[in-house]
Amino acid sequence: MAVNITKTFPLRHALSFTRGRIPSQLVIQLTDACNASCPQCGMRRNTPFRRSLLSLDDCKRIIDHAAASGIAALSFTGGEPFLFYEQLLSLLHHAGDAGIPSIRTGTNGFLFMNHERPDFTNRISRLAKALADTRLYTFWISIDSPVAETHERMRGLPGVMKGIEKALPIFHEHGIFPSANLGITKGILPKRPSASVGLPATAEEFQAGFRAFYNRVIDLGFTITNACYPMSVAPTSASSLEAVYGATAEDDSVMFTNEEKRVMFRALGATIPQFRSRIRIFSPISALHALERQYSGDPGYCRPCRGGSDFFFIDAKCGDTYPCGYRGRDNLGKFWDLDLGRAPYGPSCRKCDWECFRDPSELLAPFSEFLSSPVRLVKRLFQDSTQTSLWLGDLRYYQAADFFHGRQAPDFRKLSRFAREPHDLSIEEKYAVQQSPGFLA
Ligand code: SF4
Ligand code: SF4
Repeated sequence: MAVNITKTFPLRHALSFTRGRIPSQLVIQLTDACNASCPQCGMRRNTPFRRSLLSLDDCKRIIDHAAASGIAALSFTGGEPFLFYEQLLSLLHHAGDAGIPSIRTGTNGFLFMNHERPDFTNRISRLAKALADTRLYTFWISIDSPVAETHERMRGLPGVMKGIEKALPIFHEHGIFPSANLGITKGILPKRPSASVGLPATAEEFQAGFRAFYNRVIDLGFTITNACYPMSVAPTSASSLEAVYGATAEDDSVMFTNEEKRVMFRALGATIPQFRSRIRIFSPISALHALERQYSGDPGYCRPCRGGSDFFFIDAKCGDTYPCGYRGRDNLGKFWDLDLGRAPYGPSCRKCDWECFRDPSELLAPFSEFLSSPVRLVKRLFQDSTQTSLWLGDLRYYQAADFFHGRQAPDFRKLSRFAREPHDLSIEEKYAVQQSPGFLA
């Protein structure tokens, strides 16, 4: 099946491939204020630091420059952006009117607390209607664990899981199909027998956790899901990273060894095919396979990240632009002063696993390579048949999943083709021969 790239990106954005670029992305951190208590995050409510909020005027100026520069995807993140609901709504309208095609925002779920109160349904209906009146493409709701108690304890948001379950049909009625965003932490792992405490997490444990997560979010009523890989950037990191985006911590819940990460990426890549026909799963298996190879001692295997060349991050504290949320030493100044036609940095960084930037960098790079270095690309596609087959499978799946359009109901007839894909078998076979004993180890 041919992949219609202009359906994914309007022609203007698809043309970026001809310049060796990929459709660009901007993440605006509207605020670093938050009302949740996630241990994996430096912005949790009990961390003492002065909180910031970008001004409405600055945000609009940023959006106007983003639209004029051809930014294809714009995310409003936090902190918790819905703490500033009126401002957020105004910005969503502004971005839609400016013509940005893929507009995203999300919540930690605090909106869904107190589901037992009589006004819950009306309150959520008003919220869903207000969002439906914008051109929002993706609305994500964070979920850390398939177990309600674990998720609610980590987030510090009691009763929220039940509230999400009650809210989803209301959103669907308004034509909004939220995405369940899994923040991968140790909270995903099944409860361990005391003899295993302190031992590295195994592939079986990760796979059991991912299976339980997908089953749980399907049961809750979600139709789209994504996985956020664990982030832990130390302030004096040897890798020269310096986080301006506080969605990172040195808490044990996100501290994984490189070997655990390798096993985690492999387990996630092996689990996803089992659920692709039941829920639209954004995480590309080709990107997971590349990250697995990176942590297998092949650091150059992944495509370099587009942070600083096609993707950018704006920090709530000073409103300045960075290549991403983790390269705080590379301040690019005010976004509206940047000429995005001239990439400030070439794509070369592979220093973290931030899925917002790493997944699309991996998935979209071959399109730009097709025009900038076709011989090298063709050679690579033929030489690495596993990755090529996973990548083509991802493209076919993205098309069947309507490119995760959060305003469209899933087409299960199209998704059903992915109930059992030949490449799924090959990834399992590939893993099986590397394992001893069992399918994953
Ligand atoms: S992960 Fe999100 S919801 Fe949790 S503390 Fe950080 S900003 Fe708040
Ligand atoms: S890999 Fe990408 S997101 Fe991570 S530090 Fe480098 S540029 Fe930033």
